Amino acid sequence: MQIAVLAVQGAFIEHRKKLAELGVSCIELRKKGDLKEPFDGLILPGGESTVQGKLIKELGMYDALKERIQAGMPVLATCAGLILLAEELTNDEHVYFGTLPVRVRRNAYGRQLGSFHTVQEMKGIGKVPMTFIRAPYIEEVRAGAEVLASVDGRIVAVKYGAQYGISFHPELDGDNRIHEEFLNAARRQRMYEQAG
Ligand code: GLN
Repeated sequence: MQIAVLAVQGAFIEHRKKLAELGVSCIELRKKGDLKEPFDGLILPGGESTVQGKLIKELGMYDALKERIQAGMPVLATCAGLILLAEELTNDEHVYFGTLPVRVRRNAYGRQLGSFHTVQEMKGIGKVPMTFIRAPYIEEVRAGAEVLASVDGRIVAVKYGAQYGISFHPELDGDNRIHEEFLNAARRQRMYEQAG
């Protein structure tokens, strides 16, 4: 199995390290040609969603990635990655992949509470550490999407099919269970595709 990490901008190195720790091979997506490599799942890292969204299109990766996400490829999208997946943004007119039926607010915690850390329950996993950095949160969850975690009444993690949209940064904490769950989804998808 191999996982692709979008590596045009932002916190992709931390995800690479996490995958290395878990013994999973990974490739970086930096240009269109990288899409020729086989991969069974995609990580969209934190960073600056406007920059990432622009680069994905300019580099010619948008259509192929969107098609694969829609076809069921597992995606772990953290922070800016969640913004890239959302079908609507409350405070921004852009839509990038738009494959995740949620409405997301960018920089939702304002300047004062720009970054914080907490430990909260995540559905199917248990208590997990959560590091938020100028994070978005999910203001509306639409048909088919499932809420996985909330912090102070605000939704911070959802799942839709094999797309995981997460406000915080699991790659920055020592807990590997969110990555493991995503990797299991990628393994299942791979087996399913190999079975033809
Ligand atoms: N504020 C960033 C954005 O809107 C996301 C922050 C992050 O990924 N840490 O793109």
